[in-house]
Amino acid sequence: MSEKRDFYLVLSVTRESSDDEIKKAYRQAALKHHPDRNPGDKGAEEKFKEASEAYAVLSDSEKRATYDRFGHAGLNGAQSFDGMGDILSHFQDMFSDFFGGSGAGGGRRKRGPDRGQDVRVEASISLKDALLGGKHEILVSGAAPCDTCLGSGAEPGTKTETCNQCHGTGQVTAQRGFIMFSSPCARCRGTGQYLPSPCKTCRGAGAVERQRKVLVAIPGGIDSGQRLRVPRQGMPGPAGLPAGDLYVDIEVESDERFERQGADLGTRASISFAEAALGSKVEIKMPDDTLVSAEVQPGTQPNAVIVVRGQGMPRLDRHGRGDLHVAVNVRVPTKLSKNAKKLLRELENELGDAASPET
Ligand SMILES: [Zn+2]
Ligand SMILES: [Zn+2]
Repeated sequence: MSEKRDFYLVLSVTRESSDDEIKKAYRQAALKHHPDRNPGDKGAEEKFKEASEAYAVLSDSEKRATYDRFGHAGLNGAQSFDGMGDILSHFQDMFSDFFGGSGAGGGRRKRGPDRGQDVRVEASISLKDALLGGKHEILVSGAAPCDTCLGSGAEPGTKTETCNQCHGTGQVTAQRGFIMFSSPCARCRGTGQYLPSPCKTCRGAGAVERQRKVLVAIPGGIDSGQRLRVPRQGMPGPAGLPAGDLYVDIEVESDERFERQGADLGTRASISFAEAALGSKVEIKMPDDTLVSAEVQPGTQPNAVIVVRGQGMPRLDRHGRGDLHVAVNVRVPTKLSKNAKKLLRELENELGDAASPET
């Protein structure tokens, strides 16, 4: 991992900036780089992560003081996030404020999330898999329901209780001057539910970070940059609520023999110059090992392209398949026997000017 940047620089604030200014700066950065707004953008995700780490430290007066005195070394890596799910759950209350826009005194009462967070992963598949489609196991790293507490976050045998700080509303109000401020309850993190004995495996999160396999149905013809949604395979929902969705961003690996352009496939085939002159057939071994034959017309020239209709990739949006384009390479013999040379000279005489194509 590269050197960490100065947290104040990351958020474009100064050491003198107030908590409110820092919160405002982070809100701006989070809105700009939030992965939901920049799907598939790794750079944005990194920036989002960096800003979140900076904010986690600078928004905490104790951590901020330590950081001011000792820099990154003082934090001992304590504030780093394992993944997007980790960040999103850490700042969940704040994000719902950012994006939901329900401020203090707003008409809508703030409620906890009604399902788990969505998760986005990238998956590389071969051209063969993209051609055939079918079910594929995809490795997902990230939050998965904790096996010990089955996602409830409570130590087995114990239960969650209604938070007595906020009486289950998830909100606490405080008066400053004439203004009432309403903020998420710190004891229960705005959920209204409190865990008297958090599960020891997941520390009450209900989820643990791990790798799991998810069976994903890939439609034949899928291309790089396309996204699949797998319902209910995202982050587990809090306290028995449904999980979020899993989004799989597909990357189709490049293939040695085939180039792809949308639903069309391109490849090369070598034929002898006799085959080029007389016409013939070439067999193309497709990515899925089936054979497709391409008709070589008599008089085919080097680099000519034979189009075989309907033998490309399946079309995702409609029926049928694209085309297969075969670029023809004509082999010119390099080792000639005495007899072959003699025959070729005779052939050349026989053909005369007809041997060269019209220009
Ligand atoms: Zn647990
Ligand atoms: Zn509470």
